[in-house]
Amino acid sequence: MEKIVSLCKRRGFIFQSSEIYGGLNGLWDYGPLGVELKRNLKNYWWRVMVHERDDVVGMDGSILMNRAVWKASGHEDTFTDPMVDCRSCKARLRADQLVEKKGAKQCPVCGGKDLTEPRSFNLMFKTYVGATEDESSITYLRPETAQAIFVQFKSILDVSRKKLPFGVAQIGKAFRNEINPRNFTFRSREFEQMELEYFCRPEEGMKLLEYWKEERLKFYEDIGIARDKLHVLTVPDEERAFYSKGTYDIEYDFPFGRQELEGVAYRTDYDLSQHQKASGKSLEFSHDRDNIPETAAASKWIWNDFANIA
Ligand SMILES: [Zn+2]
Repeated sequence: MEKIVSLCKRRGFIFQSSEIYGGLNGLWDYGPLGVELKRNLKNYWWRVMVHERDDVVGMDGSILMNRAVWKASGHEDTFTDPMVDCRSCKARLRADQLVEKKGAKQCPVCGGKDLTEPRSFNLMFKTYVGATEDESSITYLRPETAQAIFVQFKSILDVSRKKLPFGVAQIGKAFRNEINPRNFTFRSREFEQMELEYFCRPEEGMKLLEYWKEERLKFYEDIGIARDKLHVLTVPDEERAFYSKGTYDIEYDFPFGRQELEGVAYRTDYDLSQHQKASGKSLEFSHDRDNIPETAAASKWIWNDFANIA
C-alpha cells in the first residue's frame, strides 16, 4: 500500500489534504493527473448510465438538506458505528476492530483491556444553517447522495414523463465522519458517489436486481478491471437491511484484502414510503397505461451505490 500511496503522490494523482499543515486524516486532494482520471471515470459512468439509456435521467442535488430528510431516512437515529474508548492509551476504536484474546477484548493499539462499553457514534457531520447555532438550525453534510433522489422523485417523474421502470442517476460528494479512516482513499471522510436509483413495479424487483448486477459487472470489465479480481457476494438474509429483499456486494481484491466496491440492492418501497409518511406529501403517481393507476411508492427499486470511486 505504501508504494501505491507514494507513487500517487509523486506522479500527481493524490495528495494528503492540507499537507503543509500536517494534513487532516481521511481527506485527500486529487492532483493534475488524478483529477483527469477521476473525471474520465465519472464521464464514462454518466455516458453509459444516463446518456446511452432511455430509461435514466440525471440530477444534481444539494449537499445540505432539511434535517427532516435525515430523520425520515433513519440516518439521524441509526447511521452509527459502535465505538469503544481504550482507557489506557486513549485510542478511539470501532467495536469490531477490537482483538479478542482468550475470550477477552483487547485494544489493538496497546493491548489494554480497560475499555469503555460500546457507545453509538453517528457518522454524519453536523453543521448549522444560518446565523444562529441552535437546535432549530442543525443539519448534516449528506452521508449519501440517494436521499435527494427520493425526495425529488415526484418532481423528476412529472417533468421527465418517464414510465416505470425508470432510474435517476447522480454523481456527487458525500461525507462520513469515519472513526478510523484507513486504506488510503477506500475509507475516507469525504468522497464522491455515483449512484443510480431505479424505480419499478414490485413484481419486477428481483428480475431487475439480477439485471443490474450483470450490468454493473459489465461496466467494470469495460473499464479494464480484470474479471477474476471481481467477486459477487450474496449478502445473507440476516445481514441485509430489514427492508431489502436482495443485496449483492460487488467486491474487489484490493492490496488490503477483498472489500466491497459497490452494492446492488433491491430495497423495496422503503425510502419513498418513509418520505411520504414523514412529509405528508404524496409520492404516488398514476399514468394512463391500461387505465390502471400505479403507485410508485408501492413499487420497489434498486440501489446502486458505487461507494468510492478512487
Ligand atoms: Zn489502548
